[in-house]
Amino acid sequence: MAHTLINILNNTCPHCHEGKVFDEKSPFLNFGFPKMHKSCSHCHNKYEKEPGYFFGAMYMNYGITVAESIATFVIAQQFFTERFDLRIIPIIAFVIIFFASFNIRLSRMLWLYMFKNYSM
Ligand SMILES: [Zn+2]
Repeated sequence: MAHTLINILNNTCPHCHEGKVFDEKSPFLNFGFPKMHKSCSHCHNKYEKEPGYFFGAMYMNYGITVAESIATFVIAQQFFTERFDLRIIPIIAFVIIFFASFNIRLSRMLWLYMFKNYSM
């Protein structure tokens, strides 16, 4: 389980755990959509099994973003006197934008690992 989590965060192939899934190394300081390899450079495992394969990862990305927003709200709320201060909204927006590239990568990696062939 811990190895799977490390492999997901390292963006390695779900099949061989050697090849990289994404072109760029850093998920941060990288604005724009991350570039994915078509297949693994080590074992030639194809990542996009069919057209629109990563459509479901979009829903995972949404869930991760909502969870981050709620966590940011709860943390930021501690620093304000009012129960709901409107100054929290730009803080949440900043966190969402800062983690956007990381969230896309994470959601796609989770999607790949959820539907990998475990019988192989
Ligand atoms: Zn591989």
